[in-house]
Amino acid sequence: EFHKSKGQHILKNPLVVQSIVDKAGVKSTDVVLEIGPGTGNLTMKLLERAKKVIAVELDPRMVLELQRRVQGTPYQNQLQIIHCDVMKVQLPYFDICVANIPYQISSPLTFKLLAHRPSFRAAVIMYQHEFAMRLVAKPSDPLYSRLTVNTQLLSRVHHLLKVGKNNFRPPPKVDSSVVRIEPRNPPPPINFLEWDGLVRLCFGRKNKTLGAIFRQSNTLALLEQNYAVAQALHRAADGAEVDLVGAINRLAMEGGSSGAGGGAADEGGSDDEMDEGEEGGAGAGGPGGIAAGGSARRRRGKASEGFKEQVLEVLEKSGYIEKRAAKLSQDDFLALLAAFNQAGIHFA
Ligand code: SAM
Repeated sequence: EFHKSKGQHILKNPLVVQSIVDKAGVKSTDVVLEIGPGTGNLTMKLLERAKKVIAVELDPRMVLELQRRVQGTPYQNQLQIIHCDVMKVQLPYFDICVANIPYQISSPLTFKLLAHRPSFRAAVIMYQHEFAMRLVAKPSDPLYSRLTVNTQLLSRVHHLLKVGKNNFRPPPKVDSSVVRIEPRNPPPPINFLEWDGLVRLCFGRKNKTLGAIFRQSNTLALLEQNYAVAQALHRAADGAEVDLVGAINRLAMEGGSSGAGGGAADEGGSDDEMDEGEEGGAGAGGPGGIAAGGSARRRRGKASEGFKEQVLEVLEKSGYIEKRAAKLSQDDFLALLAAFNQAGIHFA
């Protein structure tokens, strides 16, 4: 009677539940946010440790079951249940988030959390194993991707524990992993939309050299359009308004408001809405990509030779022309963005 479409895989092994709560480092003064409490196995353990648990649950049957479970216990008054789609609700204040989430909203939910203000101490979250490995990947790892660098720009991420599928009822098709995410506070002072525009472009073909990517005529045409807009707006090289929260939220919403973007991404397969297929598209496609989307793409002409030289000169001088996204670190991307911006070249 579980809803697979709601990602209802109940964590049954009490040792694993205990281990998650222990590793989360919940304090007695903490307000804990739990997403998708289900029947409350994790919730009950969190209530033993925390001052308060706020649990956001979509399924009314689960809400009822959870209410019944705390009723008449000393924990009744410590638990607040929000019966809502977590992607649609404004999250309350919390110190730490601990959750076994429905995997189809992994990506949008992660960025919704990272955009949340005030910032929190940590999020300890169960993901599909492969998704977790993407979050913690390092340059040159096969799973190093746009999702990786965007997450690691905004937070420090550590793998805590692998959880085999047989610890769940019904068992999902793939293993899971618990990850600890600590938001960087304050976040880096950059324009996140620009950052994501650059990163999206570079990971569109992550094993090609940046020289090859930036020589593509459609890439150049888009960048030249952005360049013209920036000139017209008299945008200072580094003066773009930083609306980090707005930018991350825009990104979070790319997958659809209830995370439906991953519809088919329940388990197995690539659940990473943040990855362009490696050979797919021209690297700049997708909603929220560089420039202003569809209409801009249709209107674009060919970039001028002068602009092309300008772009390649930035790559040459900064030393990145022969480099590949798959091997670039966080600092490399930051340096590359700064070099482009200094030359008046923008990605959003
Ligand atoms: N935390 C429980 C456990 O560990 O046993 C259940 C986890 S189960 C993987 C995911 C839970 O999230 C389900 O109870 C499901 O009803 C709920 N859920 C699914 N989509 C949701 C959404 N958009 N907002 C809030 N809860 C959701």
